[in-house]
Amino acid sequence: MKVNQTITKQQFRDALRQKLSHHFGVQPENADYDTYYRALGLLVRDILQDKRKNFNDQVREKEGKQVYYLCMEFLMGRSLKNNLYNLGLEDIAREVLSDFDIKLENIYKREPDAGLGNGGLGRLAACFLDGLATGDYAAMGYSLRYEFGIFRQKLVDGWQTELPDAWLPGGDVWLVKRPNHTVEIKFDGHIKESWDGNYHHVEQVDYNAVEAVPYDMYVPGADGKGVAVLRLWSACAPGLDMNLFNQGDYIRAVERDAMAEVITKVLYPSDNHREGKSLRLRQQYFLVSASIQDIIHRHLSQYGSLSNLPDKVAIQLNDTHPALAIPELMRIMLDECGMGWEEAWDLVTRTVAYTNHTVMAEALEVWPEDLFQSLLPRIHQIVQEINRRASEEMMMKTGGNSQKVSNMAIISYGMVKMANLSVIGSHSVNGVSQLHSQILKDTVFHDFYTLYPEKFKNVTNGIAYRRWLCQSNPELTQLLTKLIGPGFTTDASQLQKFGKFENDKTVLAELETIKRNNKVRLSNTIQRQSGILVDPDSIFDVQVKRLHEYKRQHLNALHILALYQYIKENPNADVKPHTFIFGAKAAPGYYLAKQIIQMICKIGQMLEKDPQVRDLIKIVYLEDYRVTVAEELMPAADVSEQISLAGTEASGTGNMKLMINGAITLGTLDGANVEIHRAVGDDNIVLFGLKADEVDSLKASGYNPMVYYNNNAYLRGAIDMLSRGIEGTDFNDIRNSLMNKDPYMVMADFEDYHRAHQYINQIYGDRDTWNKMSLHNIAGAGIFSADRSIAEYAGNIWHAQPILTKED
Ligand SMILES: *Cc1c(COP(=O)(O)O)cnc(C)c1O
Repeated sequence: MKVNQTITKQQFRDALRQKLSHHFGVQPENADYDTYYRALGLLVRDILQDKRKNFNDQVREKEGKQVYYLCMEFLMGRSLKNNLYNLGLEDIAREVLSDFDIKLENIYKREPDAGLGNGGLGRLAACFLDGLATGDYAAMGYSLRYEFGIFRQKLVDGWQTELPDAWLPGGDVWLVKRPNHTVEIKFDGHIKESWDGNYHHVEQVDYNAVEAVPYDMYVPGADGKGVAVLRLWSACAPGLDMNLFNQGDYIRAVERDAMAEVITKVLYPSDNHREGKSLRLRQQYFLVSASIQDIIHRHLSQYGSLSNLPDKVAIQLNDTHPALAIPELMRIMLDECGMGWEEAWDLVTRTVAYTNHTVMAEALEVWPEDLFQSLLPRIHQIVQEINRRASEEMMMKTGGNSQKVSNMAIISYGMVKMANLSVIGSHSVNGVSQLHSQILKDTVFHDFYTLYPEKFKNVTNGIAYRRWLCQSNPELTQLLTKLIGPGFTTDASQLQKFGKFENDKTVLAELETIKRNNKVRLSNTIQRQSGILVDPDSIFDVQVKRLHEYKRQHLNALHILALYQYIKENPNADVKPHTFIFGAKAAPGYYLAKQIIQMICKIGQMLEKDPQVRDLIKIVYLEDYRVTVAEELMPAADVSEQISLAGTEASGTGNMKLMINGAITLGTLDGANVEIHRAVGDDNIVLFGLKADEVDSLKASGYNPMVYYNNNAYLRGAIDMLSRGIEGTDFNDIRNSLMNKDPYMVMADFEDYHRAHQYINQIYGDRDTWNKMSLHNIAGAGIFSADRSIAEYAGNIWHAQPILTKED
C-alpha cells in the first residue's frame, strides 16, 4: 500500500489476506482471533513504518530540531485501536473483519497492555508521545524494553499478590528490531589515565560490556502524518567470553551472559519511591548511555559536528531517573571527541532540560557514592568535576554561604544527589502544575531558585484526550460532534463551545443517558469479572490511581465506615445509593499500602453481608488496574476522588481523564486540581480540606491527630472498627499510624471530607444541576490536552517547531 494516499476497503482486505497467508499460513476463514490480531498488527505497523520514513525525510530536509524524551517508563497500554483511529482506518478495518464474520472489538481484546510503567509518570510519557506526533515534532522517546512490565495484581482474600507480566508474546507485534543500531555499554572496571604530549587519554579498563539492542515502536499523531518513535533498549550479552571459555570456565561464561541480560528483565514496581538497588542504577545508566550514544550518532551522521547540538537537539529528562545523561554527554564529548571542558559543558547544559515530578523526600533519588563509583568509574569522575566547578560558582554567587552550597552540592556526605545534578546540568527545570512549580521554587529548590531564577518554569501536565475521550467514550464524542462540530478532536480548546448548552434540557438529558449507558456497560463488566451486581443508578464514586498513603485511599475508606455507622444508626435516613469503586496497585514491598487494599476489600465484604446496607452502599475493588481498565472506567464515573494531602501530588492526570468524561471532582486544592477549579469555577467542583499553606502551618505548630479522634464521633467510631477488626481481620497498623503520626493528615481532613460527601449526595439528587456541572467539566477540560502541554514545552523549553506545514 502507498503512503499518503487513502486506503480502500479492497486494498485493506487484500493486505490482510496477504499477511494471514504469508506470515501465518492461513486463510481468513481458518484464522483465530490471535492470528487476526497479529496480522492486523503487522499490516498497521507496515503503514506506520512507511509514514515515519516519509516524515523523517522531511525532518532531514528541513533540518528540524529533534526532541528526545528520556524516561524509565512508558505506560503505553494497547496500540491497535489507537493506531487504526489515528490512521483513519478504524471503519474500514471494522467492515473488512465483519465480512469475515469477526468483530473488531474482539480482536482488540487479544492485545496485552504494554505496561512498561507504574502510573502517572509513565502514562504522561505515553500521552506526550501522542502529543509530539500530533504536533508534527521530530520526536523520539527512549526507554527500556522490559521483558516483564508492571506486575499483574491478584487479590487473595483482599491481600495483593503479584504475578509476572509477560507482555512480549502479543506485545512484540509492534516492535521492530534494529540490530544495526546496537551500542555497547560499559560497567565496572577502573580508569587508566595517560598523557600523549598535550593529549590526556582516559580509558576504562577491565570493564564488563553489555550490548543494547533497540526495538522501535511507532506512534502516529492524530492525522497520521507526524509519527513519533519509541525506542526501547534490550540488554544482550556481547557474545560468550572466549577468555573464560579458553580457561575452561564454561559455567562462568554462561553466567556472565545471564548477568548482562538481567538488566532489562523487569520494571521496578515502585511509584513515587526511591529504589536503592544497584540493578536499578545499572538500568538507569544502560538507558542513558545507549540513548545518548544513539542521539550523538544520529546528530553526527547529519551534521558532522557537535557544535550545533543545542540548536538541533533538545533532550528532556522525565524526572531524575535519566539524569546520568548529563555526565554521559560530557564523557562522550571529552573522551571520545577530545573537546575541552568549558565547550562541552556549554553544549550539554544548553541541550538538556529537566522535569521534576515530586517534592516528597522519600522519592528524591540519591546513590551511595561508593556504589556509584564502582559501577560507573568514569561517570563518577566526571560528576566529581561537575560538582567541584558548580560548588565553586555557587560559593561565589552566595557570597560564601557554605551551608547553602552544601545543600545544592551533587555529592555530599557520601551520597550522589540526582536532583541537584539535574538542576545544575539543565537550562530548564519545570514542575508539572502551577502549584507544584511554585512549591519547587519555595522549598525543594529554593536556594537554586535564588541563584538561577531564569531556569525555573511550569508546564502543567496534559492527557492524550483522543484516547481518553474520543476512543473511550464514543457516545459522548458523537454528541459533542453533533453539537460543536468535529474541530475539538484536533483542537481541544473548542470543547469550550459545549458550555453554551448549559441550559439546554435536551442536551442535559442526552448527557445523562450517555453516562448511564457507560455505567451499565461497566456494571456488566464488573458482574462478569467479580460477580458483584452493581446498580447503574447508584452514584459511581471512583478512586483509581497507585496506592500510596499520600493519595489517601484510607481517608476514602474511613468515610465509608462512617457512612456505614450512620446508616446502622439511622435506618430510614435518606442516603443515595452509592458504589465506591477502587483500583490501585501497591508496590510489592509497601506493607501499609497492602494493608489498606485489604481493609477496603474487607469493608466491602462487610457491607455486602448486611442486608440493611448492601443496596445503599457497595464497594468494588477492581483487580489489576491498568490503562485498558481505565479506558472503560473513566466514561462511567460520576465522582472523581482526588483527595491527596495538599502539597503532595505534583499534578495528577487521572483527574483530567475523569473530568473530560464528565465526572465531578471531589478534591483538595492539590496539584492540577487547583487549575481544574479555575477552569470550571466554584460551582462545578467540590473542594474540601486543608490548603497547602495551612498544611505547613499545622505541621509547624505541632500536629496532633488524637485531637480529631476525640472530637469527632464518626471518626472515632471508624478508627475503633479498625482495632476491633473487620470481617475477622484487625487493621491496627493503619490505626496506629493514623493515631500516632498521621504523616498525611487524614485525621485533620476527615470532617471536611465528610461534609463534602454530604454535599455531593445532595446535589446528585438535583439531576439538572448535576448534569450541568458535568457539562461544564467537559467544556472546561480542553486546557488539559497533552497537545497544549507539548506546545508549551516546544515554545518555552525546546524552542522546537513543527516539521510539517499545512501544504505537507
Ligand atoms: C492516568 C493513570 C494513572 C495516573 O493517575 P493519577 O490519579 O494521576 O495518579 C495511573 N495509572 C493508570 C493506568 C493511568 O491511566
